[in-house]
Amino acid sequence: MKEIVPEMSKVRLVVTSEFEETVREYAKAGDDAPAYEQDRGEFGVAMGKVMRLSGDEIAVIIDSSVLLAGQEHGVPEQTFKHEAYHVALHQRGESLYDERDDDDEAGLAERQYFGMAAIACEESRVEMPLCRERPSPVYGWFPSLLESVESDVCRLSREYQDSDDGPDDVIAISRGFSKRFHSMVTACGYVAAVMEARECGLPDIDPRIDRRVFGEYGAEVIDRLRQLPPADQVADRADLETAAEDISELLMPWGSDIGFRWEDLLGDQSAFRVLKPAKWVL
Ligand SMILES: [Zn+2]
Repeated sequence: MKEIVPEMSKVRLVVTSEFEETVREYAKAGDDAPAYEQDRGEFGVAMGKVMRLSGDEIAVIIDSSVLLAGQEHGVPEQTFKHEAYHVALHQRGESLYDERDDDDEAGLAERQYFGMAAIACEESRVEMPLCRERPSPVYGWFPSLLESVESDVCRLSREYQDSDDGPDDVIAISRGFSKRFHSMVTACGYVAAVMEARECGLPDIDPRIDRRVFGEYGAEVIDRLRQLPPADQVADRADLETAAEDISELLMPWGSDIGFRWEDLLGDQSAFRVLKPAKWVL
């Protein structure tokens, strides 16, 4: 980690067998959402997390099971390096996570799309140097991740259409869709890193699934992510902001193409629209 992190003295490294509890404990003191879940469903299980503490201190929490015997070759090193690059980006001022949090001009929906884009950008940059040594397994999982997004969106849509369309029903479909869309966007960051580091094409996606949830916009998002500089290169913050901006501008049309859209309303409110009910219910 010392080779990657500029200021190791500001880092508190915690290797724990109680990963989720430790993250929640640190979250209470810091700035992260308390509802943290290690299991990411189709996306695997998180083994590490970087959390900002007060001042310029930062905690890196690693699940000790990553060090257990029987791990695939290279996995422990990759886990530590991945988190180390997140710390490096943060210390170099190249992290865009909180960019829009205090932007009064941007509405809720705009901030949400930008936040997703910022996360995908950072994961992609972090993974690029690592994928030169060992390609992320997310590349291999990507087609089945898209399949599960497709079937989950079908199920959520059917449940919604069968419901009374009350506030709880709207919340269920908007949260359900947003969670899957977010996972898909983040996974694009990993896929872009593998494609860039290994000079390979997109994973093989079933044409029907491609049409229904990935399509042109998904491919465009990946193209734009591939243009980012890897995390082992110092980047210009303005260029990073432009990249995240470009990607966030693709996310609304991508979501709409799938059939769902967040829109800003007056007074810092946003609306969730179901655009293509027939596509998902028939
Ligand atoms: Zn990460």
